Amino acid sequence: MCDRKDKDLGMARAISRRDFLNGVAVTAGASLLPLHLLQAFEQDLDPEKSPNYYPPALTGLRGSHVGAFEVAHSLRDGDFWQDAGKPIETGEKFDLIIVGGGISGLSAAHFYRKSNPNARILILENHDDFGGHAKRNEFMVTGRKLLGYGGTFSIESPAPYSTVAKGLIAELGIDVSSYSKYVSSDLYRNAGLVPCVFFDKETFGSDRLTINPLPVGGSRNEGDETPEQKQTWERFLAEAPLSPAAKEDVAKLRRRDVDYYPGLTSDEKKARLARISYARYLSDIVGVGPEVLKLYQTAPQALFGVGIDAVSAQDAWGFGFMGFQGLKLEPSPGKGMNHDAIPNEEAEKYFFHFPDGNSTVARLLVRRLVPEAIPGSSLDDVITARANYARLDQPESPVRIRLNSTVVRVEHAGNPRTATRVRLTYSRFGKLYAVEAPNTILACWHMVIPYICTELPEDQKQALRSAAKVPLLYTNVALRNWTSFQKLGAMAVYAPGGYHSYFRLDLPVSIGDYHCPTSPEQPIVIHMMKTPCKPGLPARDQHRMGRIELFMTSFETIERNIREQLGRTLGPGGFDPARDIAAITVNRWPHGYAYEYNSLFDKFWLEGGVTPCEVARKPFGRITIANADAGAYAYTDGAIDQAWRAVQELKHA
Ligand SMILES: Cc1cc2nc3c(=O)[nH]c(=O)nc-3n(C[C@H](O)[C@H](O)[C@H](O)COP(=O)(O)OP(=O)(O)OC[C@H]3O[C@@H](n4cnc5c(N)ncnc54)[C@H](O)[C@@H]3O)c2cc1C
Repeated sequence: MCDRKDKDLGMARAISRRDFLNGVAVTAGASLLPLHLLQAFEQDLDPEKSPNYYPPALTGLRGSHVGAFEVAHSLRDGDFWQDAGKPIETGEKFDLIIVGGGISGLSAAHFYRKSNPNARILILENHDDFGGHAKRNEFMVTGRKLLGYGGTFSIESPAPYSTVAKGLIAELGIDVSSYSKYVSSDLYRNAGLVPCVFFDKETFGSDRLTINPLPVGGSRNEGDETPEQKQTWERFLAEAPLSPAAKEDVAKLRRRDVDYYPGLTSDEKKARLARISYARYLSDIVGVGPEVLKLYQTAPQALFGVGIDAVSAQDAWGFGFMGFQGLKLEPSPGKGMNHDAIPNEEAEKYFFHFPDGNSTVARLLVRRLVPEAIPGSSLDDVITARANYARLDQPESPVRIRLNSTVVRVEHAGNPRTATRVRLTYSRFGKLYAVEAPNTILACWHMVIPYICTELPEDQKQALRSAAKVPLLYTNVALRNWTSFQKLGAMAVYAPGGYHSYFRLDLPVSIGDYHCPTSPEQPIVIHMMKTPCKPGLPARDQHRMGRIELFMTSFETIERNIREQLGRTLGPGGFDPARDIAAITVNRWPHGYAYEYNSLFDKFWLEGGVTPCEVARKPFGRITIANADAGAYAYTDGAIDQAWRAVQELKHA
């Protein structure tokens, strides 16, 4: 049934989005399976061996997709082992087994093979695709292949890549300094498109799209405003549906001559800013009213997963948010600053965005590990290469990547101090399997580890549990054209009251045979981001509530919100959600970014001392621990560095 409004939004239109969503079944001990897995499973095949098995092209609800998480949740709930039965012994022989097929697990396999070229390695991954958060989404719209990133956006990091991480990127054939060759950096600017902000009726009294002058991220904006910045502000203030009082508040924030902490040194000021949220700094110290608070509330979400109520004023200063110019703070980072808030020129220059994000990094790693699985040999040909999933787990291959396999138990065969082997049990389509190896790296999410490796010391399990991740929604919508963006002059939209708080046209990058859309009449993928959280609570509680929200929200609800939001924002530019949307892929990440420490809630971060991630990543017998969580650092280089460490530690196991 579709009501009138749903009809206008196009909820009943045949687009590519629900294809695999509702085909589910429950078998004894098995989870809900998407149709593509179920069909192969019913025929008792390895689904990955089917020629139709191609996860990047699936639309609908992806990310933590149906079939990927139920086993782990049942472990968490304590009911998995009831009626689980005995595992089937695979009898396979490996030198190393890695849990988790994300960048960290794949890098660990790569590093291990460098010092052990003949090693046999098994990688076990619970999702139907490899890469972890580095996920590729593909679309076909009117005969044109479009790529999108379902997770990791780009090679970038707040701090410079380590020698190890840079070395790996170079070894994979990525010359980061050549990025300008591939990106048409002036395409949107030359077409008159600028970053915009959308004021919505419910939050600000009326729907209005205007230019976005808010300096967010990047430079600290210490100097005087340029004539161009001044013009942007003037246009914004003329068009924004803000009250005269709110416009006064904006003027207050733009002032560069007011020191709100007179008489304090720069360090003393930073220490105060580290202990107060940006929201409270704005309201209690600067004296800004609720409208401007609402305007800023969701601005830091893309990086922190929380809004200004749970980000310290010191971090907001580091990001280049407004209201600090008169404080004349020394540029050096203050105690307790988040990595993301510490600008670094070298790091800023090290940037590369592939059309499918860092899925290209994952695919290049897989090509190294299992060459037959990703055809080709260069960076240019990897972008369009179709992965052959049937080749990922071949008996004759020294490295095997086994998808759809959730590890449920990891234990030493005997006393962890003296044991020579580790035994792993995994669940695959309702059946349990056991496999052993002398070495194991846990490159999976840390909060899963206490459930699967119960022999770890209690303090380590506690530290692992504290690494609960940040939930995120990364939505890709394939549009038949982007003429509405062109008409409205928008390349990106910040929407503080929107369901997705930000969306944008993807960066125009062409590599090899992949050509990005360059004319507004061509189809394009737009990327939308939502960070579910509950302002007012401590950051970790906000993430927990957001995680629950993501698991509880149906695809239909998300789709309706997408259509409504795009229709309202872009409608004045001629956009019709019923006509213009060709496909939707919602990458749901209830367990997204690694949790990074926050001076408002993590005392140890401000005061110094051992951090939980240092306790969490300690080696245990023949088991070492990788993943971005091990560095509490939500970046690709973090995942690589932790893999390197975990491999080095195995040498002393
Ligand atoms: C939406 C999003 C956007 C991001 N954008 C960027 C960016 O632009 N640039 C950047 O540098 N970083 C970015 N990051 C962070 C970056 O993606 C990660 O730091 C990095 O990819 C993590 O790699 P990983 O291997 O440590 O973890 P993951 O990618 O999470 O891989 C771990 C894998 O282990 C699997 N696993 C867990 N438990 C089990 C089990 N019991 N059995 C089997 N497998 C299991 C998981 O399902 C997962 O696939 C982003 C992260 C997210 C979520």
